[in-house]
Amino acid sequence: MTQTPSLGHPVYRDMPTTIFEHMSARARETGAINLGQGFPEGPGPRDVLQAAADALLTCSSQYPPMPGLAELRAAVACHYARHQGLDLSPQEVIVTSGATEAIAASLLALVRPGDEVLMLAPLYDAYLPLVERVGGVAKVVKLTPPDWRVAREALEAAITPRTRILLMNNPVNPTGIVLRDAELALLADLCVAHDLIAICDEVWEQTIYDGIPHRPLIGFPGMRNRTIKIGSAGKIFSVTGWKVGWMCAAPPIATLLGRAHQFLTFTTPPNLQWAVAEGLGYSDNWFDAQRGAYQASRDRLAAGLREAGYVVRPSGATWFLSIDLSASGIALDDVTFCNRIIEEAGVAAIPISAFYPEESVTHLVRLCFSKTDETLVQAIARLAAFRATIG
Ligand code: GLN
Repeated sequence: MTQTPSLGHPVYRDMPTTIFEHMSARARETGAINLGQGFPEGPGPRDVLQAAADALLTCSSQYPPMPGLAELRAAVACHYARHQGLDLSPQEVIVTSGATEAIAASLLALVRPGDEVLMLAPLYDAYLPLVERVGGVAKVVKLTPPDWRVAREALEAAITPRTRILLMNNPVNPTGIVLRDAELALLADLCVAHDLIAICDEVWEQTIYDGIPHRPLIGFPGMRNRTIKIGSAGKIFSVTGWKVGWMCAAPPIATLLGRAHQFLTFTTPPNLQWAVAEGLGYSDNWFDAQRGAYQASRDRLAAGLREAGYVVRPSGATWFLSIDLSASGIALDDVTFCNRIIEEAGVAAIPISAFYPEESVTHLVRLCFSKTDETLVQAIARLAAFRATIG
């Protein structure tokens, strides 16, 4: 059936299904091991699941308060005080149905038509369509491998008097890069100098390895009143399908965020909110153990792939690492490689070019390591066999 050309908003008309959904659907069809879309294997930690099950049976299933359960808002503030030294009040926290809703609500609340939104590529695939859909003008600064470093000149060249927002992700999906303090200080500096509001997608704040602390931009000088800090229970508790997130900002911004959120999803399932509130109070040991397990999975996958003849780029955070095709001596671009391994090796992955709006980097492929040892071992064996066939 041909589509009516005038049907629908232009942003959506020629847009493909997200790369994550596309690859997961192909993995389901072909039975491939899915190292594409980022989600942990297994049901999630027993204690947080039990808390959600208990709350479902014993607490209200009616509308919770629009900005979130008071208990969860307090738990988020308390979690960030304990883990990141922040001084947020519960009133500065608004619970959302996942971090993607928080990003959408933030853009809806803050962007006026024609406002420029500064972003860094590679960028998470939802950012650009959301910015464009709310009438913003994307200003994308392209970072380049292998270091992906943020440099003042490139940012300053992209900022104009119409730039209002910096939309950023740290730690970074897909590269697993953790921005250095100097880079964050530079971003904070630019936000203050150019009167920008920073929307910080920090969903990977607890999946950060090698003993490196997460440094939230909101904690940098001048940023307390101009930053929206976004978090995700799906990532923190390995339950990506729950879609419980939050956005934190000083009261004048939080008020606007609440107005956007109230007409987007309005609320988020209350039993999940109760469980997340409980989980955020778990001991430091609990979070260390989670991180330790993911770090071990990262190391297992990296070592296996290296042994199989792939060059693997270091990843300091997230659930992802990347294979460098050109450094591995593989003369395929990332999309071709992903298509071939899903068909020929039975492994799904994500091409990094999907994270660039244009002038893509095409020699890197993202693999998700938040899987059981057994799955990783099997995936490594399949990718090793594939490597052998392509010489
Ligand atoms: N954040 C997930 C990833 O990077 C994808 C989430 C989604 O599919 N919407 O793999």
